[in-house]
Amino acid sequence: MAVTRTFSIIKPDATRRNLTGAVTKMLEDAGLRVVASKRIQMTKEQAEGFYAVHKERPFFGELVSFMISGPVVVQVLEGEDAVKRNRDVMGATNPADAAEGTIRKVHAESIEANSVHGSDSDENAKIEIDYFFKPEEIVG
Ligand code: ADP
Ligand code: MG
Repeated sequence: MAVTRTFSIIKPDATRRNLTGAVTKMLEDAGLRVVASKRIQMTKEQAEGFYAVHKERPFFGELVSFMISGPVVVQVLEGEDAVKRNRDVMGATNPADAAEGTIRKVHAESIEANSVHGSDSDENAKIEIDYFFKPEEIVG
């Protein structure tokens, strides 16, 4: 299995509850390495651009408001089959459906305030990493 990269966000519901370390530990315990990380306050424009793929969904406006409601931690994660490895430890979008031991099962508040984002493909991982990080900010 190849070592690849994925993009992660620790969302405002998690930073608000001081869970940055707890969530990062779950990522690390799942075999992922944090090779870039920064805490930022996203602008409305940044959040709308990031979630542009969802702009026709009924929850788009709420999602953008939530994502700018407080700081987030954007991260680049590296590991074997990183996209799938991260999606597996994140758990299902709706915490009610998430498997035991996953980040969303343990920490998420709701289907919207679900603590973490993770890229869904290698292609999107690259786009999302480039959206938030310069190459020199990533140190493997
Ligand atoms: P995932 O984050 O698991 O890849 P999606 O890409 O489908 O899920 O959705 C992006 C984000 O939009 C979710 O993580 C969640 O914060 C929010 N979201 C998804 N579905 C809903 C919904 N039905 N109601 C409110 N927010 C939602
Ligand atoms: Mg998604």
